[in-house]
Amino acid sequence: MSLYTETITSLRSKLSAKEVSPREIVESLLKRIESVDPKIQGYLWMNAEEALQQADAADLSKPLGGIPIAIKDNLNVIGNPCTCASKILANYQALYDATVISKLREAGAILLGRTNMDEFAMGSSTENSSWGKTRNPWDIDRIPGGSSGGSAAVVGAHEAIASLGSDTGGSIRQPAALCGCVGMKPTYGRVSRYGLVAFASSLDQVGPFTKTIEDSALLTQVISGHDPRDNTSALQAAPDFLSDLKKGVKGMRLGVPKEYFVAGMDPQVEKGIRDAIQQLQSLGAEIVEVSLPHTEQATAVYYILATAEASANLARFDGVRYGHRASNPTDVLDLYGRSRAEGFGSEVKRRIILGTYVLSSGYYDAYYNRAQKVRQLITRDFTEAFKKCDAILTPTSPTAAFKIGEKSQDPLQMYLADIFTIAVNLAEVCGLSLPCGFTSEKLPIGLQIIGPKWGESAILRVGQAYEQSTSWHQQRPNL
Ligand code: GLN
Repeated sequence: MSLYTETITSLRSKLSAKEVSPREIVESLLKRIESVDPKIQGYLWMNAEEALQQADAADLSKPLGGIPIAIKDNLNVIGNPCTCASKILANYQALYDATVISKLREAGAILLGRTNMDEFAMGSSTENSSWGKTRNPWDIDRIPGGSSGGSAAVVGAHEAIASLGSDTGGSIRQPAALCGCVGMKPTYGRVSRYGLVAFASSLDQVGPFTKTIEDSALLTQVISGHDPRDNTSALQAAPDFLSDLKKGVKGMRLGVPKEYFVAGMDPQVEKGIRDAIQQLQSLGAEIVEVSLPHTEQATAVYYILATAEASANLARFDGVRYGHRASNPTDVLDLYGRSRAEGFGSEVKRRIILGTYVLSSGYYDAYYNRAQKVRQLITRDFTEAFKKCDAILTPTSPTAAFKIGEKSQDPLQMYLADIFTIAVNLAEVCGLSLPCGFTSEKLPIGLQIIGPKWGESAILRVGQAYEQSTSWHQQRPNL
């Protein structure tokens, strides 16, 4: 078995038994990247030289000592580009490390390279990147999902052992589902966003892509915890996510919301999810029906609140302080206008215009305020549901990976790719996606496990029980 196919956990034991060295791991990955990334195009930029140096200096006594991790291009790593796949940040170099990056460094991880994404994390297919399209490792004519498509594809293609992404409305879970890996969106406040380029600040969370649930628990553990530099990060310390991991699901109550099995869902996806539910039942979980009645409003609410917040967050890119500056401006308004017109892509412009509209006087009450109220109702749905169960099971995405170009001309269809993931961000709870089967075209299907606030241990435990009783996670794409 080649080293690049291993997990964090298996490499950790090989490293401590001195069967391999960190340099051999990095070299194995660099070779793999050289051979398959021209097809996948998951990486935007490689840290090869530095990764080898970090490998030689790795401290193997640390939890991620000698383990290479790939990083989404919206997290600041000092000295690296951090473009958010946008022309407006084409020449930007990070001046500091995001807190999650400092935590990775403290844990001994090696920073391998930067992964492709939808521009400013807006999208579900990574087709909105200014630097080209990433391909799905299971079928290179298809999208890898988004917005963290690069981070998912490089783990799915075994070009990284694990990676970090960000999730505002599904951007970790949906690409993880489509690329056949595990993606975790922690509870809002669990992980610091200091150094994550903000999209929608009331929704954004950082989280890991891994090949197994155990690796997900380990990596989530490393990046969690209070950060005085992010005042939305919770004061409480993260519990030990690994300690309960293997306790099984016997006696756990798992909720199945009737609103998540909708018309228009791919029947193969539905079958995959129904089989997984049955599997968990046979492992001893009690399946209960729950209701999340405001699910239908989630997409509308999200696209009002996320665009409103994005329009405010992206105001800082004005050609003066960061990034691209238009040449020969006639005055300051011309400088702002042209720098932004030249720097932002069309989806980002659409969101800024929508967000500015819903915040403008006269529309603020009708859209923004009303959306805030419906967000409360969605949150209450989850609070009620979690009185009846410990975790909720749903599909992650209504379809498997779609073809490149299939939805890129139809923003509304693209927005509907998130119908099962966005309510989780609106309610500030946690969710993960893990492989639960394949379609007849051999495209991965993802099971979403949603937990209450601070319920990561519960969803990881459910995920572990399921994963260990199936072999989906052991399948590899043919590349
Ligand atoms: N696909 C959603 C959007 O386009 C979610 C993106 C994300 O989670 N960053 O906004």
